[in-house]
Amino acid sequence: METVPFVDLKAQYARVKPEVQAAMDNVLDTGAFILGPDVAAFEEEFARYCGVKYSVGVESGTAALRVALQALGIGPGDEVILPANTYIASALAVSQVGAKVVFVDMDETYLIDAARIEAAITPRTKAIMPVHLYGRAVPWEPIVGIAQAHGLRIVEDASQAHGALAGGRRVGSFGDVGCFSFYPGKNLGAYGDAGAVVTDDARIADAVRLERDFGQRYKYEHLVKGDNCRLDSIQAAVLRVKLRYLDDWNANRRAIAMRYDNMLKSIGVEPPARTRSFDDVYHLYVVELGERDRARDLLSGLGIQTGIHYPVPIHLQPAYRDLGLARGSFPKTEAAASQLLSLPMFPELTEAQIERVVAGIQSHLTSVRASTRKAG
Ligand SMILES: *Cc1c(COP(=O)(O)O)cnc(C)c1O
Repeated sequence: METVPFVDLKAQYARVKPEVQAAMDNVLDTGAFILGPDVAAFEEEFARYCGVKYSVGVESGTAALRVALQALGIGPGDEVILPANTYIASALAVSQVGAKVVFVDMDETYLIDAARIEAAITPRTKAIMPVHLYGRAVPWEPIVGIAQAHGLRIVEDASQAHGALAGGRRVGSFGDVGCFSFYPGKNLGAYGDAGAVVTDDARIADAVRLERDFGQRYKYEHLVKGDNCRLDSIQAAVLRVKLRYLDDWNANRRAIAMRYDNMLKSIGVEPPARTRSFDDVYHLYVVELGERDRARDLLSGLGIQTGIHYPVPIHLQPAYRDLGLARGSFPKTEAAASQLLSLPMFPELTEAQIERVVAGIQSHLTSVRASTRKAG
């Protein structure tokens, strides 16, 4: 029995291999490894794709978030509001600049609950960090409204939602800054670590360019104490090729999600709640299942790989014990951590593979029903 992988990077590579190899060879032949022409070209192409003026390539999504916060002057003594339900990197970036993370629980779409943001604002709040988790665009109007009313900046974490639209605008383009990860498994993935910051603000773009390259605009003229966190030329060359496929791949993900929705409904499983924008790019397809861990074991026994995003919320991680947030602080996020299962999701997933996943979930439901009957 062949495995149904959770993500299949090899299937995708098969499609782009000749172009990617040519692009990499070109970097190797020219020797332009650091901030070469591919970096500048990718930045221009990605900015255009996102509908913003500037894009600056950096070494990872985490670095993108960190330098974006720095560029906004956020540091010690400041607070940043972000969803409790996110990958830990969103919070780590805030901690890295010395600011305090302030979590807000999710709503039924698994994204930051905009209705709870105002209660989390204090005189020290400097920014809101909406996270477009699972490929779902956070509706931007309420967030922009709150930010304007309180004089706050918006730093979007769009690491899981390349190309998603919110109210007709690309994620990354409605905040002061948008941050992307190109980790290999992301919707737009490099072949190594990579990230980018996008913005319409020339000063932010300039500050990020300085920060990523030793604080220099010209060689040996160091204006600030910057870091070295540049986007690799080889990764930029790969990303230029893959960016041309992104819309196709996202369309495949949407079609697969529709299949999952319909097939799950037919076996009595509620498909994931929609966001208002309905333009999700399904980085992950998450379902709520009773006896989730048992389902995961059963599927694994059938050769079907699944994921959990995320098994332990950030506020309950040892790294954030200093926040003093006990279990019960964010009930919806905590419930999601114990009930959500991420099904295989990648653009090349076949109909036969989808059918196997859904059949596996059906066996799980049958086995849970049988054991409750026995227990009753
Ligand atoms: C992947 C991810 C990041 C971090 O990106 P890296 O490139 O791995 O540093 C940040 N936030 C979210 C929501 C992510 O999914």
